[in-house]
Amino acid sequence: MGSNYLEALNTVQEKAVQHPPQVPLQILAGPGSGKTRVLTSRIAHLILHHHIPPTAICAVTFTNKASNEMRERLTKLIGTERTRALKLGTFHAICALFLRKHALVVGLSNNFSVCDADESKKLISRLLKPYQTFLEARDITLKEATVFSMISKHKYKGNTSTDVIAELRITKSKSDKENTGVQHKSRHITDEINSVVAEVYREYERALRKSNSLDFDDLLLFGLQLFTDHKESAGWCRHVLVDEFQDTNSIQYELMKTLAVSADQCLTVVGDPDQSIYGWRSADVTNLAKMKKDFPSTESILLEENYRSTASILKASLAIVSQDKARLPKSLHTSHPSGSIPSLVSFATDQDEAAFIAHEIKRTAANMGGILKWKDFAVLLRFNALSRVIESALQKSGIPCRILGGHKFFERMEIKDLLAYLQLVDNPQFTPAFSRVINVPARGIGAKTITELELRAQKTNKTPLELVELIHGGRVPDIKPPIKRKIPSFVKTIQTLRDLAIDGSSPVDLIRRLVDLIGYEQHLKQAQPQDWESRWENVQELITFASEVEGDIIEMDDSEETRSTTPLRMFLQASMLSSEGDQSNGEDSNDKVTISTCHAAKGLEWPVVIVPSVEHGTFPFYRCDDVEEERRLLYVACTRAQCLLYLSHCGKRMVAGETKSVELSGFVSSVHHQDRTIFSDRAPELLPADRAVISRVLSRPEPKHVEVAKHVAEFNRTARHRPEPLSNPQSSAYNWHPSLGAQSAPSLDIITSS
Ligand code: ATP
Ligand code: MG
Repeated sequence: MGSNYLEALNTVQEKAVQHPPQVPLQILAGPGSGKTRVLTSRIAHLILHHHIPPTAICAVTFTNKASNEMRERLTKLIGTERTRALKLGTFHAICALFLRKHALVVGLSNNFSVCDADESKKLISRLLKPYQTFLEARDITLKEATVFSMISKHKYKGNTSTDVIAELRITKSKSDKENTGVQHKSRHITDEINSVVAEVYREYERALRKSNSLDFDDLLLFGLQLFTDHKESAGWCRHVLVDEFQDTNSIQYELMKTLAVSADQCLTVVGDPDQSIYGWRSADVTNLAKMKKDFPSTESILLEENYRSTASILKASLAIVSQDKARLPKSLHTSHPSGSIPSLVSFATDQDEAAFIAHEIKRTAANMGGILKWKDFAVLLRFNALSRVIESALQKSGIPCRILGGHKFFERMEIKDLLAYLQLVDNPQFTPAFSRVINVPARGIGAKTITELELRAQKTNKTPLELVELIHGGRVPDIKPPIKRKIPSFVKTIQTLRDLAIDGSSPVDLIRRLVDLIGYEQHLKQAQPQDWESRWENVQELITFASEVEGDIIEMDDSEETRSTTPLRMFLQASMLSSEGDQSNGEDSNDKVTISTCHAAKGLEWPVVIVPSVEHGTFPFYRCDDVEEERRLLYVACTRAQCLLYLSHCGKRMVAGETKSVELSGFVSSVHHQDRTIFSDRAPELLPADRAVISRVLSRPEPKHVEVAKHVAEFNRTARHRPEPLSNPQSSAYNWHPSLGAQSAPSLDIITSS
């Protein structure tokens, strides 16, 4: 079959795409070898060739950004309608979708809210307070962030607080028996910490349920419960595909397994053990071996050609990762030319380093005569705090930049304020939202009064919102007059919005009405005089986002998803999920240099990549648990580069307000000492020959669109023979047809193998 999506693949990739759906498949391969491309093509193949309905395909990506990219490519291959019907997203997004529909069977209400990390930490801080005296007496400092991450680790493993408490009891009675003498002090402290965390975990679970909410980890726990205990809810799935499988944790593995079992083992995963970089978040690379045990008929396919990077970038990257002696050697080659040798440049201070980065981006862009735009450059950092100096250097040079995986849109104060109001309208029990906005804009209700209100609500078994509504109605005795005077505007706002929501107002209208009712623009002007304009722009951006979600809702119109929820709920869910792990809303589509953490850069690629601060203490990070994981992280960062790669380091760096002497990372110095040809100590000259290589690596011959159109038309012609009828096949077949014009035609990223 001369299908376009198959022509864009090499022989091994094609074999992987055409592998029989019922035989579980592992595609293990190095960076840039086309794993994600194969996964995307396989989805097209399952639909177009095997006639699996798109609604029965579950494709899991690691980030929202990755699912958006996959969605874009699939839209070009199979049309908008089928792409929209796929269950495509992160594990969290897929669980959230099903939990909304089946909330009742796992003991939740349909209008549950999703708590973000910030809200969870605030809640934990409150629950931790009663234990402070106990901890202080034992000289133990326990911060809410630590407790949050410990609870999260329990959840990643699929353990509830009951499991954790039971486990602690068993361990304690064992150690009591074994320890007849004096127990080791540090062991004792660990036990004390574990038992406090277990108690707080239990209370945290209760508090979340009471406010009818879930945190992000709960989405997976409850999702697993749903798919396990209510097998029929997992029965929709006929094929599971997972990208970046090396970074799944236990609970994600269990979710995948449950779905795959119900799908008669139709399972495809792609991964690369050399890129496992989430061990610190309980990802478990041994899941690759586990899958082979659980699905014994699993077959493996290895891809060995890298299409992304020049030969010299690949050589340098492999030299770094190969220093890990425990790593299994793998073959990865490229037919791309050598290109400019990666630069390893050193500076006296971090300021000099930042100035160089800005200068070098400008010089390269100018030298390449329009081939490279700002968006073709990425600066990849080990951690976010390194971005400030670089951001300001770029700004000084007039280079626009965006931060990926940094301070995210949905984490901004103004966005969280408005979402909290809407959450409260949808789910009146959601206390974190109440506490956030009862005094926004300032109504003279201080923290002490808020705590009093919350305590009183707790005592009378009401939600804080119910309580203030009763106070407003004059139905609560002995309330101080000042409080009575301060709450009406808040209560009226919520009630007006609630009525509007019940009458079916759209999220866009609700947000517009909300900012009007609370005078939010004025509030920003007064409370944030320095940057109120940009904050107000963010509010407008939120309205744009809401209208996009509305567009999706209208398109899905009569789907099962829309029938089981409300437009406001769908909007809240979309915004909560967008805030997970990466930024996915429109604002990043412009021509800007990307500044990202190395973690958030996973799976992505840029023509030019700069990795600053390649120093001991940064790579490996001084607080890391696993040095080899840090080495792999640097490998992931380097393998994002297509044409030019820079590693930089300095002699002195400002860390937490102090200037410290720093040294080149051992990950790179060992490579450099062994072979001086791998890195160059200067910036590339960008001679005509270098420029020719860059153009060649970046050239992406377009496929012939008419072939895709023909193929989709063929698919639609045979649609009536398939189990799931398509509502309007003709329209979707040519969904992208208006863009068939030569210049604006969508790219299918087909490259002739050189
Ligand atoms: P990573 O491990 O970093 O996630 P990956 O293995 O998923 O990488 P892809 O992102 O799928 O790799 O592909 C890397 C680049 O190579 C992309 O630009 C992709 O379009 C291109 N590519 C993949 N396969 C081919 C091919 N057969 N011919 C030409 N280009 C290809
Ligand atoms: Mg990939």
